[in-house]
Amino acid sequence: MDKVMLRCLVSRCLLTNPVACQTRKMSGGSLAGSQSSLAGKVAIVTASTDGIGLAAAQALGQRGAHVVVSSRRQSNVDKAVALLQSEKIQVTATTCNVGNSEDRARLVDMTVEQCGGVDIFVSNAAVNPFFGNIMDSTEAVWDKILDVNVKSAFLMTQLVVPHMEKRGGGSVVFVSSVAGYQPMQALGPYSVSKTALLGLTRALAPELAQSHIRVNCVAPGVIKTPFSQALWQDEDVVDEFKKQLSIKRFGKPEEIGGVIAFLCSKDASYITGETITVTGGMSCRL
Ligand code: NAP
Repeated sequence: MDKVMLRCLVSRCLLTNPVACQTRKMSGGSLAGSQSSLAGKVAIVTASTDGIGLAAAQALGQRGAHVVVSSRRQSNVDKAVALLQSEKIQVTATTCNVGNSEDRARLVDMTVEQCGGVDIFVSNAAVNPFFGNIMDSTEAVWDKILDVNVKSAFLMTQLVVPHMEKRGGGSVVFVSSVAGYQPMQALGPYSVSKTALLGLTRALAPELAQSHIRVNCVAPGVIKTPFSQALWQDEDVVDEFKKQLSIKRFGKPEEIGGVIAFLCSKDASYITGETITVTGGMSCRL
């Protein structure tokens, strides 16, 4: 097809496809006033200096939110802040290991002091210190995985909720995994921790709805980040995974970030207690 024909086809599509027109308008200008705008909102995203957390911070920031980013290492925090600032995103940052109670309290206190409150909380941090048969996993492995992946998600929620209540409501999003529905071989304890987040979402949603706080969850499939390196660096493993995918590639962090931002926006105002799977069609539930 020559270039003139292609241009003709694209412009006809933009004229007849209202969604495409809208996207074009919004990408050139601001989202202010639209249902997806997060202008004026303050968003804490944990483990947000790389991968899905960073992409979530970018997606929330692009929609106008002031994002509060953190992770364990100062050098990673500095790099993320430089990137977000270069994208004209309003950002505040600190170090925070979510497994440490003093760090969690400091993150929330600093956010309230410097940004005036909290509207959005994205619980993204997770660790996986164990690969192997679940029967070989130790108490120390379970303690670490449950502390970071599950307990800290709840304890952070407990810290931010009073501040959301002061603002008249808010939105919480947990980052689970496709492994939470279908445990992955060699990742037994991690998979169980991700199943717990599906339950935590359901347990919190009715209680917090009274305070106009929605609680939702995303369950990513395999997303190309440092965390999943072992899965996408080995060609045999890649081929095996691709058989399970309808979209024959691994996901990108921004493809999760956008879904998280959607869940935090007014577009999702009637969604709570829900988990959205973002897996490229990997089958994990009906
Ligand atoms: P990633 O790219 O490896 O990034 C991990 C981030 O977490 C880094 O910013 C790291 O920075 C920070 N971090 C690690 N431990 C932390 C802790 N204890 N406290 C605070 N920050 C910590 O990981 P990812 O793939 O984006 O994973 C993010 C989430 O998505 C996790 O919950 C994971 O289970 C989930 N997920 C990932 C995939 C996938 O395929 N990638 C699939 C399903 C679910 P520092 O080193 O500076 O702390």
